Amino acid sequence: MTNTAKKCLWVLAAIAVVVTMAVAAQQKKKRETPVTAISYHMNTMVEYRLYGKQAQQAYQAIEAELQGLEDAFSMHLPESEISRLNAAAGGAPVEVSAQVMQLLQACVRYGEESDGAFDVTVAPLVEEWGIQTDHAHVPSQDRIDALLSLVDYRSLCLKESDGVYTAQLPHAGQAVDLGGIVKGYACTIAREIAENYKVTGGYVSIGGNIMTIGSTPQGRPFRFGLRDPRGSANDFIGVFEIPGETIATSGDYERYFEQDGVRYHHILNPATGYPADGGLLSVSVISPDGAYADYMSTRLFIMGREYALKNLNNFNCGLVLIDQQRRVYVSDNMKERFTPDDPTGTYRFEETA
Ligand code: ADP
Ligand code: MG
Repeated sequence: MTNTAKKCLWVLAAIAVVVTMAVAAQQKKKRETPVTAISYHMNTMVEYRLYGKQAQQAYQAIEAELQGLEDAFSMHLPESEISRLNAAAGGAPVEVSAQVMQLLQACVRYGEESDGAFDVTVAPLVEEWGIQTDHAHVPSQDRIDALLSLVDYRSLCLKESDGVYTAQLPHAGQAVDLGGIVKGYACTIAREIAENYKVTGGYVSIGGNIMTIGSTPQGRPFRFGLRDPRGSANDFIGVFEIPGETIATSGDYERYFEQDGVRYHHILNPATGYPADGGLLSVSVISPDGAYADYMSTRLFIMGREYALKNLNNFNCGLVLIDQQRRVYVSDNMKERFTPDDPTGTYRFEETA
């Protein structure tokens, strides 16, 4: 064998070693097992899938933080900051943490932005309707009118003085309910923690509000189904790709009761005191900001089909709307990331451009 031929062989052998090592590394990554877990917080199921060397620590830190959020924001734990604020309605201001203050301030901003469609003081009405409780019923018009007089986010008084935050509900009977936003907010907190622990990919789903981070070990974005609002929990009519954002969905199918053939669901229109009836079955919002996505899905569901469709491409987020005629509308920025896949064949995927 000539010297040149020997050199060639060495070079080939070296290339083979490098390629083998790269393939092995790639396969190891593909075999990487994620941390998967299910837990319950804020009255809903939380599902995890996290990849990365510190995924386990990330999971534990997120769990601790979710518990902390629940302790602060719960309407059911009598000692939570929100319960104390509600119990003091009509009385003196209550001291709250910076975190609770931040979210209450966001809610007031969102109240203004939505002309009161999203109203964090809707709680007395939510409580009266009792949807998904053992006292679910259609209240009398007198009762609705009386409770509506308590619903006004503008009356929530938020103050800061020397680093001390206080909140006050001026009228007895008033109460705040952060159920329309707190799960999305929790998604953003979960993302921050996952990033701190260098999670390379994964998702956390908090009652269907899903935040994703990075990509799968194969380098693909995480994919999630769009619920068929008239199917069961495992029926989907399309697939989203969500790279590093949060998706929140509001619909009339999750929590409701039926009376005399009418469906009464849990998203209330503060203009009427009744469940919102804006012609939509569901609204999905995709944004890097989880609280914003959660708020927007509730808001647009309330403001209804005409408004949401007119503004389909005007918001700083992705949108997928399903209306009562089973027409599906997708904002331009989601077209590449949403694939219709309707096994029932009953939904129409509309071109709106
Ligand atoms: P889910 O909590 O089922 O994911 P949403 O994010 O749309 O759905 O939030 C619905 C919750 O928001 C209700 O259960 C109630 O606690 C609260 N809510 C209902 N109506 C309003 C409203 N008009 N403004 C703000 N929050 C509302
Ligand atoms: Mg919401």
